Amino acid sequence: MVLIFSAALGSGVQRVLAEPENQQQLVKSWSIDDFDIGRPLGKGKFGNVYMARERETKFILALKVLFKSHLEKENVEHQLRREIEIQSHLKHPNILRLYNYFFDRTRIYLMLEFAPRGELYKELQKRGCFSEQQSATYMLELADALLYCHLKKVIHRDIKPENLLLGLRGELKIADFGWSVHAPSSRRKTLCGTLDYLPPEMVEGRLHDEKVDLWCLGILCYEFLVGHPPFESSSHQETYRKICKVEIHFPSSMSDGAKSLISQLLRHNPVLRLPLKGVMEHPWVKANARRLLPPECTASGENEGPH
Ligand code: AMP
Repeated sequence: MVLIFSAALGSGVQRVLAEPENQQQLVKSWSIDDFDIGRPLGKGKFGNVYMARERETKFILALKVLFKSHLEKENVEHQLRREIEIQSHLKHPNILRLYNYFFDRTRIYLMLEFAPRGELYKELQKRGCFSEQQSATYMLELADALLYCHLKKVIHRDIKPENLLLGLRGELKIADFGWSVHAPSSRRKTLCGTLDYLPPEMVEGRLHDEKVDLWCLGILCYEFLVGHPPFESSSHQETYRKICKVEIHFPSSMSDGAKSLISQLLRHNPVLRLPLKGVMEHPWVKANARRLLPPECTASGENEGPH
Protein backbone atom coordinates (compact mmCIF):
# COMPACT_ATOMS: atom_id res chain seq x y z
CA MET A 1 0.00 0.00 0.00
CA VAL A 2 1.38 3.40 -0.94
CA LEU A 3 0.35 6.53 0.86
CA ILE A 4 0.74 9.60 -1.28
CA PHE A 5 1.20 12.51 1.05
CA SER A 6 0.21 15.92 -0.22
CA ALA A 7 2.40 18.94 0.47
CA ALA A 8 -0.26 20.66 2.56
CA LEU A 9 -2.42 18.80 5.07
CA GLY A 10 -5.46 20.80 4.05
CA SER A 11 -5.31 20.23 0.32
CA GLY A 12 -7.04 17.28 -1.30
CA VAL A 13 -5.13 14.27 -0.01
CA GLN A 14 -6.22 11.01 -1.60
CA ARG A 15 -5.79 7.43 -0.64
CA VAL A 16 -4.03 5.38 -3.22
CA LEU A 17 -4.00 1.59 -3.13
CA ALA A 18 -1.43 0.17 -5.48
CA GLU A 19 -1.62 -3.49 -6.49
CA PRO A 20 1.94 -4.67 -7.02
CA GLU A 21 1.05 -7.33 -9.64
CA ASN A 22 -0.64 -5.18 -12.25
CA GLN A 23 0.11 -1.73 -10.85
CA GLN A 24 -3.62 -0.89 -11.11
CA GLN A 25 -4.49 2.03 -8.91
CA LEU A 26 -7.75 2.49 -7.05
CA VAL A 27 -8.23 5.94 -5.60
CA LYS A 28 -10.60 6.29 -2.68
CA SER A 29 -10.77 8.71 0.22
CA TRP A 30 -11.98 7.97 3.73
CA SER A 31 -14.46 10.12 5.59
CA ILE A 32 -15.99 10.11 9.07
CA ASP A 33 -19.16 8.54 7.55
CA ASP A 34 -17.20 5.32 6.96
CA PHE A 35 -17.05 4.70 10.72
CA ASP A 36 -19.26 3.98 13.73
CA ILE A 37 -17.72 5.87 16.61
CA GLY A 38 -17.46 4.11 19.99
CA ARG A 39 -16.18 5.02 23.44
CA PRO A 40 -13.44 7.59 24.00
CA LEU A 41 -10.07 5.91 24.62
CA GLY A 42 -8.19 8.94 25.83
CA LYS A 43 -7.44 12.61 25.54
CA GLY A 44 -4.30 14.01 23.96
CA LYS A 45 -2.90 17.52 23.74
CA PHE A 46 -4.41 18.18 20.29
CA GLY A 47 -7.59 16.11 20.37
CA ASN A 48 -9.26 12.90 21.42
CA VAL A 49 -8.95 9.23 20.56
CA TYR A 50 -12.04 7.05 20.03
CA MET A 51 -12.67 3.41 19.44
CA ALA A 52 -14.22 3.09 15.98
CA ARG A 53 -15.55 0.41 13.61
CA GLU A 54 -15.27 0.63 9.87
CA ARG A 55 -18.84 0.14 8.61
CA GLU A 56 -18.18 -2.15 5.65
CA THR A 57 -15.59 -4.55 7.07
CA LYS A 58 -16.47 -4.13 10.80
CA PHE A 59 -12.76 -3.64 11.40
CA ILE A 60 -12.07 -2.17 14.87
CA LEU A 61 -9.53 0.60 15.11
CA ALA A 62 -8.65 3.72 17.10
CA LEU A 63 -9.53 7.04 15.51
CA LYS A 64 -7.42 9.96 16.65
CA VAL A 65 -9.18 13.25 16.02
CA LEU A 66 -6.93 16.31 15.89
CA PHE A 67 -8.16 19.88 15.60
CA LYS A 68 -6.45 21.83 12.82
CA SER A 69 -6.81 25.05 14.81
CA HIS A 70 -4.88 23.57 17.78
CA LEU A 71 -2.14 22.23 15.51
CA GLU A 72 -1.79 25.57 13.75
CA LYS A 73 -1.76 27.50 17.02
CA GLU A 74 1.09 25.38 18.36
CA ASN A 75 2.84 25.34 15.02
CA VAL A 76 3.13 21.53 14.91
CA GLU A 77 1.63 20.78 11.46
CA HIS A 78 5.11 19.94 10.23
CA GLN A 79 5.68 17.54 13.14
CA LEU A 80 2.35 15.80 12.47
CA ARG A 81 3.13 15.49 8.78
CA ARG A 82 6.44 13.84 9.64
CA GLU A 83 4.76 11.56 12.19
CA ILE A 84 2.23 10.40 9.57
CA GLU A 85 4.84 9.95 6.91
CA ILE A 86 7.08 7.87 9.16
CA GLN A 87 4.51 5.81 11.06
CA SER A 88 2.45 4.87 8.00
CA HIS A 89 5.49 3.14 6.53
CA LEU A 90 6.37 1.11 9.63
CA LYS A 91 4.91 -2.40 9.82
CA HIS A 92 6.12 -4.35 12.83
CA PRO A 93 4.23 -6.30 15.56
CA ASN A 94 5.62 -3.97 18.24
CA ILE A 95 4.93 -0.69 16.46
CA LEU A 96 1.39 0.71 16.46
CA ARG A 97 0.11 0.73 12.88
CA LEU A 98 -1.07 3.93 11.30
CA TYR A 99 -3.37 2.59 8.58
CA ASN A 100 -4.27 5.89 6.99
CA TYR A 101 -5.62 9.37 7.61
CA PHE A 102 -8.21 11.80 6.28
CA PHE A 103 -9.52 15.23 7.15
CA ASP A 104 -12.46 17.59 6.95
CA ARG A 105 -12.66 21.37 7.24
CA THR A 106 -11.68 21.54 10.92
CA ARG A 107 -10.16 18.18 11.86
CA ILE A 108 -7.55 15.61 10.90
CA TYR A 109 -8.31 11.95 11.61
CA LEU A 110 -5.63 9.30 12.11
CA MET A 111 -6.73 5.69 11.57
CA LEU A 112 -4.66 3.80 14.15
CA GLU A 113 -4.35 0.21 15.26
CA PHE A 114 -6.43 -0.30 18.42
CA ALA A 115 -4.32 -1.22 21.47
CA PRO A 116 -6.84 -3.08 23.69
CA ARG A 117 -4.74 -3.09 26.87
CA GLY A 118 -4.08 0.64 26.83
CA GLU A 119 -1.11 2.54 28.21
CA LEU A 120 1.98 0.83 29.59
CA TYR A 121 2.51 3.87 31.81
CA LYS A 122 -0.78 3.22 33.64
CA GLU A 123 0.15 -0.43 34.09
CA LEU A 124 3.50 0.61 35.60
CA GLN A 125 1.77 3.06 37.94
CA LYS A 126 -0.70 0.38 38.99
CA ARG A 127 1.93 -2.24 39.70
CA GLY A 128 4.76 -0.02 40.95
CA CYS A 129 7.35 -1.94 38.95
CA PHE A 130 7.55 -4.96 36.64
CA SER A 131 9.03 -8.42 37.21
CA GLU A 132 12.29 -9.42 35.54
CA GLN A 133 10.33 -11.62 33.15
CA GLN A 134 8.00 -8.80 32.12
CA SER A 135 10.82 -6.23 31.85
CA ALA A 136 13.03 -8.53 29.78
CA THR A 137 10.10 -9.30 27.46
CA TYR A 138 9.49 -5.58 26.90
CA MET A 139 13.23 -5.04 26.27
CA LEU A 140 13.25 -7.79 23.65
CA GLU A 141 10.16 -6.37 21.93
CA LEU A 142 11.53 -2.83 21.99
CA ALA A 143 14.97 -3.82 20.75
CA ASP A 144 13.42 -5.74 17.86
CA ALA A 145 11.11 -2.82 16.95
CA LEU A 146 13.94 -0.27 17.15
CA LEU A 147 16.24 -2.47 15.09
CA TYR A 148 13.55 -2.39 12.39
CA CYS A 149 13.25 1.42 12.70
CA HIS A 150 17.00 1.98 12.55
CA LEU A 151 17.31 -0.23 9.47
CA LYS A 152 14.78 2.11 7.86
CA LYS A 153 16.85 5.06 9.07
CA VAL A 154 14.21 6.15 11.55
CA ILE A 155 15.29 7.28 15.04
CA HIS A 156 12.45 7.41 17.57
CA ARG A 157 14.15 9.77 20.10
CA ASP A 158 11.28 9.74 22.57
CA ILE A 159 11.02 6.23 23.96
CA LYS A 160 9.35 6.42 27.40
CA PRO A 161 6.46 4.61 29.14
CA GLU A 162 3.94 7.32 28.12
CA ASN A 163 4.57 6.50 24.45
CA LEU A 164 4.05 2.76 24.73
CA LEU A 165 0.71 0.97 24.39
CA LEU A 166 -0.23 -2.67 24.96
CA GLY A 167 -1.75 -5.10 22.47
CA LEU A 168 -4.32 -7.83 23.13
CA ARG A 169 -1.77 -10.27 24.57
CA GLY A 170 0.09 -7.60 26.49
CA GLU A 171 2.67 -7.14 23.73
CA LEU A 172 4.27 -3.74 23.60
CA LYS A 173 3.49 -1.24 20.83
CA ILE A 174 5.59 1.85 20.22
CA ALA A 175 2.96 4.52 19.64
CA ASP A 176 4.16 8.07 19.36
CA PHE A 177 6.36 9.08 16.47
CA GLY A 178 5.91 12.80 17.02
CA TRP A 179 9.59 13.31 17.78
CA SER A 180 11.03 10.71 15.45
CA VAL A 181 13.14 11.64 12.45
CA HIS A 182 14.25 10.08 9.24
CA ALA A 183 18.00 10.06 9.49
CA PRO A 184 19.32 9.92 5.94
CA SER A 185 22.53 11.68 6.90
CA SER A 186 22.81 9.79 10.19
CA ARG A 187 23.09 12.81 12.51
CA ARG A 188 20.67 15.43 13.69
CA LYS A 189 20.68 18.18 16.25
CA THR A 190 17.35 19.09 17.90
CA LEU A 191 16.63 19.16 21.61
CA CYS A 192 13.57 17.11 22.44
CA GLY A 193 12.24 14.37 24.67
CA THR A 194 11.42 14.26 28.37
CA LEU A 195 14.19 15.30 30.72
CA ASP A 196 14.59 11.95 32.50
CA TYR A 197 15.07 10.12 29.22
CA LEU A 198 17.46 12.58 27.55
CA PRO A 199 20.91 11.16 26.75
CA PRO A 200 24.07 13.17 27.60
CA GLU A 201 24.69 14.13 23.96
CA MET A 202 21.26 15.82 23.79
CA VAL A 203 21.54 17.42 27.24
CA GLU A 204 24.93 18.79 26.24
CA GLY A 205 23.53 20.02 22.90
CA ARG A 206 25.82 17.87 20.77
CA LEU A 207 24.95 16.12 17.54
CA HIS A 208 23.15 12.83 18.04
CA ASP A 209 22.27 9.75 16.04
CA GLU A 210 20.25 6.54 16.43
CA LYS A 211 22.25 5.62 19.56
CA VAL A 212 20.01 7.98 21.57
CA ASP A 213 17.42 5.18 21.43
CA LEU A 214 19.88 2.79 23.11
CA TRP A 215 20.25 5.18 26.04
CA CYS A 216 16.45 5.40 26.35
CA LEU A 217 16.25 1.60 26.44
CA GLY A 218 18.62 1.59 29.42
CA ILE A 219 16.52 4.23 31.22
CA LEU A 220 13.34 2.27 30.49
CA CYS A 221 14.75 -1.02 31.72
CA TYR A 222 15.75 0.65 35.01
CA GLU A 223 12.31 2.29 35.37
CA PHE A 224 10.53 -1.01 34.65
CA LEU A 225 12.46 -2.81 37.37
CA VAL A 226 12.69 -0.05 39.99
CA GLY A 227 9.54 2.03 39.36
CA HIS A 228 11.24 5.37 38.63
CA PRO A 229 13.92 6.51 36.17
CA PRO A 230 17.57 6.41 37.36
CA PHE A 231 18.37 10.13 37.26
CA GLU A 232 15.11 11.40 38.75
CA SER A 233 15.79 14.35 41.08
CA SER A 234 14.01 17.24 42.75
CA SER A 235 15.39 19.79 40.25
CA HIS A 236 16.06 19.85 36.49
CA GLN A 237 19.61 20.97 37.17
CA GLU A 238 20.32 17.98 39.37
CA THR A 239 18.83 15.59 36.78
CA TYR A 240 21.03 17.17 34.09
CA ARG A 241 24.10 16.82 36.30
CA LYS A 242 23.40 13.15 37.04
CA ILE A 243 22.78 12.39 33.35
CA CYS A 244 26.05 13.98 32.26
CA LYS A 245 28.04 12.16 34.96
CA VAL A 246 26.00 8.96 34.44
CA GLU A 247 25.55 8.91 38.21
CA ILE A 248 23.46 5.80 38.67
CA HIS A 249 22.53 3.87 41.79
CA PHE A 250 21.33 0.29 41.52
CA PRO A 251 19.16 -1.07 44.33
CA SER A 252 20.76 -4.08 46.01
CA SER A 253 17.72 -6.16 45.03
CA MET A 254 18.49 -5.81 41.31
CA SER A 255 19.99 -8.91 39.69
CA ASP A 256 23.52 -8.83 38.24
CA GLY A 257 22.12 -9.62 34.79
CA ALA A 258 19.80 -6.60 34.78
CA LYS A 259 22.58 -4.35 36.11
CA SER A 260 24.88 -5.61 33.37
CA LEU A 261 22.36 -4.81 30.61
CA ILE A 262 21.48 -1.36 31.98
CA SER A 263 25.11 -0.31 32.51
CA GLN A 264 26.02 -1.41 28.99
CA LEU A 265 23.24 0.82 27.60
CA LEU A 266 23.81 3.83 29.85
CA ARG A 267 27.28 4.68 28.53
CA HIS A 268 28.17 8.36 28.15
CA ASN A 269 29.93 7.67 24.86
CA PRO A 270 27.19 6.61 22.37
CA VAL A 271 29.64 4.45 20.40
CA LEU A 272 30.21 2.25 23.46
CA ARG A 273 26.50 1.49 24.04
CA LEU A 274 25.37 -2.11 23.55
CA PRO A 275 23.85 -2.37 20.05
CA LEU A 276 20.26 -3.58 19.63
CA LYS A 277 21.31 -7.07 18.48
CA GLY A 278 23.41 -7.26 21.65
CA VAL A 279 20.33 -6.35 23.72
CA MET A 280 18.33 -9.15 22.10
CA GLU A 281 21.14 -11.61 22.74
CA HIS A 282 22.01 -10.42 26.24
CA PRO A 283 22.00 -13.42 28.65
CA TRP A 284 19.58 -11.70 31.07
CA VAL A 285 17.12 -10.97 28.24
CA LYS A 286 17.46 -14.48 26.82
CA ALA A 287 16.93 -16.09 30.22
CA ASN A 288 13.90 -13.99 31.19
CA ALA A 289 12.00 -12.86 28.07
CA ARG A 290 8.74 -14.63 27.15
CA ARG A 291 7.70 -13.02 23.92
CA LEU A 292 4.31 -13.67 22.32
CA LEU A 293 3.70 -12.64 18.75
CA PRO A 294 0.13 -11.74 17.71
CA PRO A 295 -1.42 -14.38 15.39
CA GLU A 296 -1.58 -12.05 12.38
CA CYS A 297 2.21 -11.77 12.48
CA THR A 298 2.98 -15.46 12.71
CA ALA A 299 1.26 -17.21 9.81
CA SER A 300 -0.44 -15.04 7.25
CA GLY A 301 1.72 -11.94 7.39
CA GLU A 302 0.83 -8.42 8.41
CA ASN A 303 -2.25 -6.81 9.85
CA GLU A 304 -3.31 -4.71 6.89
CA GLY A 305 -6.16 -2.77 8.46
CA PRO A 306 -9.71 -2.15 7.27
CA HIS A 307 -9.02 -3.13 3.64
P1 AMP B 1 -2.48 10.63 22.48
O1 AMP B 1 -3.19 11.79 21.93
O2 AMP B 1 -1.78 9.79 21.45
O3 AMP B 1 -1.61 10.98 23.66
O4 AMP B 1 -3.60 9.64 23.06
C1 AMP B 1 -4.35 9.95 24.21
C2 AMP B 1 -4.70 8.67 24.95
O5 AMP B 1 -5.59 7.87 24.16
C3 AMP B 1 -3.52 7.76 25.22
O6 AMP B 1 -2.86 8.11 26.39
C4 AMP B 1 -4.18 6.38 25.32
O7 AMP B 1 -4.72 6.17 26.59
C5 AMP B 1 -5.32 6.48 24.33
N1 AMP B 1 -4.95 5.93 23.03
C6 AMP B 1 -4.30 6.58 22.04
N2 AMP B 1 -4.12 5.79 20.96
C7 AMP B 1 -4.67 4.60 21.28
C8 AMP B 1 -4.82 3.35 20.58
N3 AMP B 1 -4.33 3.21 19.34
N4 AMP B 1 -5.42 2.33 21.20
C9 AMP B 1 -5.89 2.48 22.45
N5 AMP B 1 -5.80 3.62 23.17
C10 AMP B 1 -5.19 4.67 22.59
